[in-house]
Amino acid sequence: MSYTDEIMEMVVKQNSNEPEFQQAVKEVLESLKAVIDENEEVYRKDALLERLVNPERQIKFRVPWIDDNGNVQVNTGYRVQFNSAIGPYKGGLRFHPSVNIGIIKFLGFEQIFKNSLTGLPIGGGKGGSDFDPKGKSDREIMAFCQSFMTELCKYIGADTDVPAGDIGVGSREIGYLFGQYKRIKGVYEGVLTGKGLTFGGSLARTEATGYGLLYLTNAMLKANDIDINGKTIAVSGAGNVAIYAIEKAIQLGGKPVTCSDSSGWIYDSEGIDVKLLKEIKEVKRERLTTYAEARESAEYHEGKGVWTIKCDIALPCATQNELQLEDAKTLVKNGVLAVAEGANMPTTIEATEYLQENDILFAPGKASNAGGVATSSLEMSQNSQRLSWTFEEVDSKLQNIMETIFANIAEAADEYGMNKNYVAGANIAGFKKVVEAMNAQGIV
Ligand code: NDP
Repeated sequence: MSYTDEIMEMVVKQNSNEPEFQQAVKEVLESLKAVIDENEEVYRKDALLERLVNPERQIKFRVPWIDDNGNVQVNTGYRVQFNSAIGPYKGGLRFHPSVNIGIIKFLGFEQIFKNSLTGLPIGGGKGGSDFDPKGKSDREIMAFCQSFMTELCKYIGADTDVPAGDIGVGSREIGYLFGQYKRIKGVYEGVLTGKGLTFGGSLARTEATGYGLLYLTNAMLKANDIDINGKTIAVSGAGNVAIYAIEKAIQLGGKPVTCSDSSGWIYDSEGIDVKLLKEIKEVKRERLTTYAEARESAEYHEGKGVWTIKCDIALPCATQNELQLEDAKTLVKNGVLAVAEGANMPTTIEATEYLQENDILFAPGKASNAGGVATSSLEMSQNSQRLSWTFEEVDSKLQNIMETIFANIAEAADEYGMNKNYVAGANIAGFKKVVEAMNAQGIV
């Protein structure tokens, strides 16, 4: 049995209740086969893959808090510190009822390679809670965040582990978390990223993941002689990533016509009005039905359906496994040219394979959504320097990072004879740097 098959078997056995984690490891190991086979003897001797798929540390804790009716609620908190070979652990916090250890481990594992691809000195980690922020008052959100940080603060720090936002954790939550960290530890340091601009946040961090997704998508399209100008774009999600992906797509001349949340989706034949979408989602925190009420050209549909719309480019920006084989078939039938992942692992393995078999350009999330964490790392640099850079400075560094990521993954794919297989290219390029750092640091 090959080393990769052996490790996959071990991962399935040891993590039998964690399908998302198994899926993430499978996708990475399968596309690394050529590299691993080439170095099998050395990697085996050092148990390299066994170490890579086992987090350095995982922390699970109780989060008690009091709701507005005076009742005590208890949630579970997690932080998985997966790999610190190339820098302090870095990765977001997700607050969503679907969160469990398997989801956090899949996200943490992906984060190792994503962070490596950015070219910046950051290791991989992820955390969160099964807490559902939806429908909670500001006071309840604050109470939860304070309790969560009261425990988490024991394990993080500006040079050890620097969390950020993810689903359900935006600037409001980061503010409450930061306040509690400072209160307990008594230090004002860059322990979180995605902070508000008045207390150490970086300009362009809010926009970074969505903008970065479009910078990378555009680089991929250009390399394949496709002009984004005038292209119809289907976007899923209506959160941080989706909103700024839509904004940048419009700036580049594209026409995004859809967005979605967990209740339903919008088709707007005139193109999404991003100002209106921001007002509804970022300010009023309302559902997408409000968008359809405010815009004549928009239709609202319950449930799932974004991928049924005929488009040239598809950008899944909501959550994991939202683009499945049937969706991929519909997209191909409708003539899609490219799919680029804004969310983490939004496309199932079967759907990804189907798209690639049909010669659709496909950018995997660990490359195409790396702009968020890259800009978080730029926020860390600014905090350490006690300086703030201008929006233009950060945005131009972001654009440069995303274009470099694309060039590196395209080159890595070519090197192993997998021209245009950007999934393989991203895994190979990310893996090589981490492995070199792990090897240099001995058996730890
Ligand atoms: P937000 O919480 O801001 O938005 C998430 C969006 O996706 C919301 O519209 C939400 O709808 C929808 N959504 C969430 N879960 C589901 C579900 N189970 N089914 C259908 N729709 C769902 O999160 P972000 O935009 O920050 O994150 C989106 C994705 O991008 C995630 O996969 C995240 O890990 C990834 N990502 C985010 C980065 C960042 O910087 N923010 C960086 C890199 C990756 P509703 O509001 O109804 O729940």
